[in-house]
Amino acid sequence: MNQNRRLLSFERPRRRMIEEQLIPAGISDARVLQAMNTVPRHLFVDNALRNHAYQDSSLPIGEGQTISQPFMVARMSELLALEGHERVLEIGTGCGYQTAVLSCLCRRVYSIERVAALHDKARKNLRQAHHANVMLKCGDGLLGWEEYAPFDAIMVTAGGFASDVWINQLCEGGVLLMPEGEKGSHRLVRRRKLAGGIEEAYFDACTFVPLLKGELRR
Ligand code: SAH
Repeated sequence: MNQNRRLLSFERPRRRMIEEQLIPAGISDARVLQAMNTVPRHLFVDNALRNHAYQDSSLPIGEGQTISQPFMVARMSELLALEGHERVLEIGTGCGYQTAVLSCLCRRVYSIERVAALHDKARKNLRQAHHANVMLKCGDGLLGWEEYAPFDAIMVTAGGFASDVWINQLCEGGVLLMPEGEKGSHRLVRRRKLAGGIEEAYFDACTFVPLLKGELRR
């Protein structure tokens, strides 16, 4: 099957994901719903899992990691309230699916993954899905990406506790969104960097794979 036909062939399950999962679960930002309807999620999972790609669940992507549940990708994207002009740093590229969704919503996405095998996989997936406004790096996201700072938003897609450098690498008015907490029990927190301090808001309880130190190459 050629690329175009394969993209088209999953149109119906993708539309059902929007109508039967995301909208009923409360996702309402039209740009986010449009992005979720555009990105071919099935190209970001292994062949054997393609038919499950639009299910309401996370799925394994290798190296003990997962592609986040569609709802969580949409929810986190919505909480950033992007308008299209922003530069966004993502920590935890995984297979690149959230990266692809973000790339539809802002000017440029910078994404860091600590596991080299996943970084390579994400590069391949993003190329195949034709997402060009993305820069990927293999390394420890806890260090941020100084070279391209400051960012309008930082989204962390692994659970744990914030690194101090992230707030430093935000613009004034910029937001840091992450699943915060001890292993297995996280809550989404959004912190906005303002001239007078940090404004903080808590959202959904959730469970993410852990945020770990250092990079992994083998
Ligand atoms: N964004 C992905 C979610 C991937 S799971 C999606 O679209 O579904 C989270 C990823 O964070 C894993 O691949 C894990 O290896 C990575 N990760 C964990 N700690 C990290 C760190 N310190 N720096 C960069 N990536 C990290």
